[in-house]
Amino acid sequence: MAIQSVGVIGAGQMGNGIAHVFALAGYDVLMTDISRDAMDKALSLIDRNLERQVSREKISAEDKARAIGRIRTTMNLADLGQCDLVIEAATERETIKQAIFEDLLPHLKPETILASNTSSISITRLASRTDRPGRFIGVHFMNPVPVMQLVELIRGIATDEATYRELADVVHRIGKTAASAEDFPAFIVNRILIPMINEAVYTLYEGVGSVKSIDESMKLGANHPMGPLELADFIGLDTCLAIMNVLHDGLADTKYRPCPLLVKYVEAGWLGRKTGRGFYDYSGETPVPTR
Ligand code: NAD
Repeated sequence: MAIQSVGVIGAGQMGNGIAHVFALAGYDVLMTDISRDAMDKALSLIDRNLERQVSREKISAEDKARAIGRIRTTMNLADLGQCDLVIEAATERETIKQAIFEDLLPHLKPETILASNTSSISITRLASRTDRPGRFIGVHFMNPVPVMQLVELIRGIATDEATYRELADVVHRIGKTAASAEDFPAFIVNRILIPMINEAVYTLYEGVGSVKSIDESMKLGANHPMGPLELADFIGLDTCLAIMNVLHDGLADTKYRPCPLLVKYVEAGWLGRKTGRGFYDYSGETPVPTR
């Protein structure tokens, strides 16, 4: 069965990007959220992001119009029952995701593939509570979705080979590259990236370097496009801490101990760009290092 229609649950940061890339690749997209406001914001953001691609001559104005025309929204989760693939990108809380699947399952076609964009919840466990563990898979998009090339495809222990192959084909059709990952805490990218950021925070905490010297060292000395502390502010320090906790709890290894300075920043509400302050202060024209 060729996948033609895609349901997207959650119209937040990730959901709107997922709807964007699928619509642009020619899929019919049906997006839902519990918040009408989130959905309206997602639609205007998709419009703006597509417009930016038009102005950079990455796509034509006709491509944009066709993509917009392929996105529909609904407040009724049951409407997604008609889709060939449903991608859940709702809030990162297991009880929320579980409740969504329970409500959705009675309406789904038996052959529909169910996927979750979760960053940290076990795919095996989410799948086990559905009627289709073999047709359940993790599809982990990177933020911002329209820009980032990679999609991690995560097999739960019961995910069947046909499901994996169909999703790998879908990832190829939306112009992205799939990396296969097994179902272990934080998968591949975050397993490597977030401990590196945590180590950068330790380097700051122990006074080995300042914010500026740490970021400059990794940019000029390791050819990273962004310094680790700048990147941490972009991702959100609360998200970085949450992922370190998932690694620490899930792998029970002290090497994943979150840096106390990272914990302190999160407790202070200094979460990075989104709150105007993290390792940099974003209140002026250019970000200013805080240490
Ligand atoms: P977000 O907070 O921006 O959006 C979540 C959306 O889900 C909100 O609009 C919310 O109203 C909606 N929602 C909550 N409960 C719902 C329900 N019952 N039914 C429908 N919609 C519901 O979050 P996000 O950053 O887009 O993250 C979504 C998922 O993607 C999470 O699982 C997260 O771990 C994962 N993820 C996030 C990133 C990232 O960088 N932000 C990267 C990869 C994966």
